Amino acid sequence: MNTDKGTLKIGKTWIEHAEGQARLCSHIRINGREEVIWYGVNSEQEKYLIRDRSDPFVMLLLPTAMRGSLTMTSEDPMSERLHYQLQDLLMPALCSKGDRYHYVNIFTPLTNEPVSSEGAVVTGFSGGVDSLYTIFTHGKDSLLPVTHLTVFNSGVYEGRNYRRNFQRFSENCRRFADELGLKTIFVDSNVYEALPEDYISVVSYRLLSFALAIQPLASVYLLSSGYQAELFHISSERAAYNDLLTVSCAGTESLRIYLPGAETTRIGKLEAISSWDPSFRWLSSCIWTDSGKKNCGHCKKCMWDLAALYAMGRLENYSPVFDIEDYKKHLPQRIGFVLSNTVDLHCRESAAYLKQSGAYIPPLAYKCAELFRDAVDKGEKKNER
Ligand SMILES: [Zn+2]
Repeated sequence: MNTDKGTLKIGKTWIEHAEGQARLCSHIRINGREEVIWYGVNSEQEKYLIRDRSDPFVMLLLPTAMRGSLTMTSEDPMSERLHYQLQDLLMPALCSKGDRYHYVNIFTPLTNEPVSSEGAVVTGFSGGVDSLYTIFTHGKDSLLPVTHLTVFNSGVYEGRNYRRNFQRFSENCRRFADELGLKTIFVDSNVYEALPEDYISVVSYRLLSFALAIQPLASVYLLSSGYQAELFHISSERAAYNDLLTVSCAGTESLRIYLPGAETTRIGKLEAISSWDPSFRWLSSCIWTDSGKKNCGHCKKCMWDLAALYAMGRLENYSPVFDIEDYKKHLPQRIGFVLSNTVDLHCRESAAYLKQSGAYIPPLAYKCAELFRDAVDKGEKKNER
């Protein structure tokens, strides 16, 4: 049921030039508040920005409209297939659970004219397990070889320096792409400032919105899955749980979207890439470490992956990106942490894999696991008081 509480208007799009970039812009009016939101690429790649079509903006603003019960309107036409999929399939599903999202109408001219595309196969590069797995499984000999790597400034880089961080990650991506002989396209934006959101709850809609902005380049976009397919469920808090549905609803007459990685687990992805030479130099598991630097080795993501690589007997291969000597020196503590944590899905996976593998687990690791569990229990009790 539509419970309209206002409007979200997407104005006619135009191209602007600034800071060496070509920017696809639109005036967005949300209940009277007005923002110009833009997607920017290097000027030489201007031809890859979509023209006279609202697809990226509709996808970007869908969660905002659904949360605020805002009827969406667009002056530019929208791809007919995308409109049907969002209006009739994705939105009713997202609104079927919880009360965060509400069904809203999208009033817009429609077009079924395909966008003329260069036919590129594009995927994001972060150096993370999910991203490396997608690139590894879509190599030159695959049925769908990746041609372009991308970094989207979609809101994941936080703080005052978010555009500088985007540039740093783009530069890192360029070096990786050069090594693999792939092309790049980097899409900058002001969405972090113009449309602040809880990123985890909107990440997939954001990334897909950026992919829709470069339809004249991409005929396929590969969204790397963070979860295996069996974990699919409707969630308004963590958008990635919806991905199997979202990707099937985000394509157009000219852009196909797939979700590689949903067919396996994080351990399955690590097993696959652990014999792939580029991963030895580029795996970036870490929550804390900056792009291009060694992983810290002791945040939870580092410890999940290191425990699994230890169990596979592949630790030494990753000495360019982890301090393996330090890991081995603190093996009981590092493994103890993984054994102690039964809350994180990926941690449970790593612990189970480690036990099944038959790899040596120092007795002290079990003692450390007990200490970690006690510390967490005490912390929780303290918080309850
Ligand atoms: Zn780390």
